[in-house]
Amino acid sequence: MDFNWNAEEEAFRHELRSWLTANLPKDRRNETGVDFMHEEGGDWQRRLAWHKKAHAAGWVGISWPKEYGGRGANLVQQIIYNEEMARANAPALVNGLGIMLVGPTIIHWGTEEQKKRYVPKILSGEEIWCQGYSEPGSGSDVASLQTRAVEEGDYFIINGQKVWTSDAHHADMCILLTRTDPSAPKHKGISYILVDMHSPGVTVRPLVQITGGRGFNEVFFEDVRVPKKNIVGELNQGWQVAITTLMFERSGGSGEVPIREVHELADLAKRVPRNGGVAWNDDSVRQKIIEFACDAHALKYTGYRQLTQQLKGRPPGPEGSMMKLCGTELRLRMAMYAMELLGPYSQLENNAPFAIDHGKWSYRMLAARGPTIYAGTNQIQHNIIGERVLGLPKG
Ligand SMILES: Cc1cc2nc3c(=O)[nH]c(=O)nc-3n(C[C@H](O)[C@H](O)[C@H](O)COP(=O)(O)OP(=O)(O)OC[C@H]3O[C@@H](n4cnc5c(N)ncnc54)[C@H](O)[C@@H]3O)c2cc1C
Repeated sequence: MDFNWNAEEEAFRHELRSWLTANLPKDRRNETGVDFMHEEGGDWQRRLAWHKKAHAAGWVGISWPKEYGGRGANLVQQIIYNEEMARANAPALVNGLGIMLVGPTIIHWGTEEQKKRYVPKILSGEEIWCQGYSEPGSGSDVASLQTRAVEEGDYFIINGQKVWTSDAHHADMCILLTRTDPSAPKHKGISYILVDMHSPGVTVRPLVQITGGRGFNEVFFEDVRVPKKNIVGELNQGWQVAITTLMFERSGGSGEVPIREVHELADLAKRVPRNGGVAWNDDSVRQKIIEFACDAHALKYTGYRQLTQQLKGRPPGPEGSMMKLCGTELRLRMAMYAMELLGPYSQLENNAPFAIDHGKWSYRMLAARGPTIYAGTNQIQHNIIGERVLGLPKG
């Protein structure tokens, strides 16, 4: 792999970097650096405004085909986009699930009518989407789900419960996995249905996270009527569609490389007092932060290895699982180390008076656990790596 970007790629990077310099919100509250599921102080409205601005300039869903409002960006441009957004610490877009999962799935599996109806509003953020997969008894083994959809004339009647549904309290629409044939083997009786979250019978109850944020929810469905035309793919064949969505989820954001965060940690170490100086003067602190930097760069090059595979037209390999596992654990380790550096100050929560950096480090430490669970828990990623990389037998 050639690590240098070519002239065209550099021009793309330059264009995006210039746009970000001119347009990043001036009032950006940079306390946490974790927008996802952060709901305090009007953050959603700020992110919505940012989304609309980025959309108007063509910087949302850049890898989507041009005919659906994207830029038709190639894989390399998508990587550059991710790097630049992370480097600038740009706010997260609001319709992340819609853009990363739902749009590409509908483009792949949807009817022409579904594409025309749903796709443009996903990109513009006019319709916010959520993902109704997990249930109280079905998480890693999501195919065991129990939410039922029964046919009645031109409608499905849906009853059941979902849980951990991110953004459901903002959502207009949901991709809902339902059981339509309870007598079939579990993967063969599932249908993938698009549900209007404003339908009678849908109840959304927020769940408070360990951070205090209210980003995800329980969602109850009681006799919810959904037109049959809202099914994606064939009746009882929804598992294939669901897997497509999961592929988009796993190849999306969870493997971001935390290089900016390493610099932030070094900067913190240069400010917190230790032994009459600052922590950075201590060899062991610098050694630790260099270890994080090495891990972050190893992750970056693992990502490039994955990119090389894809550019050669090969299917994505297990690198996605390695990126997800190592990236989320590296972030967690760095957040824990920040707690050590802060000492007693680590006890002050986000936005508490006297908290160093407004308490963003304790917020990050708490928020860093979620990514080790969603999009396939890290134990599941261990299983995948064990089987597909190391060739171990199935447990
Ligand atoms: C921040 C966040 C946002 C989320 N957003 C959404 C959302 O928008 N929509 C949605 O549908 N879901 C969402 N989820 C739910 C997430 O997908 C599930 O939490 C996840 O799939 C795990 O399921 P579970 O919580 O039921 O745990 P379980 O599957 O019950 O697992 C419990 C423990 O057992 C381990 N385990 C389970 N099976 C195995 C196995 N075969 N081998 C080894 N270990 C195993 C797991 O790793 C875990 O440690 C979100 C979760 C989080 C944390």
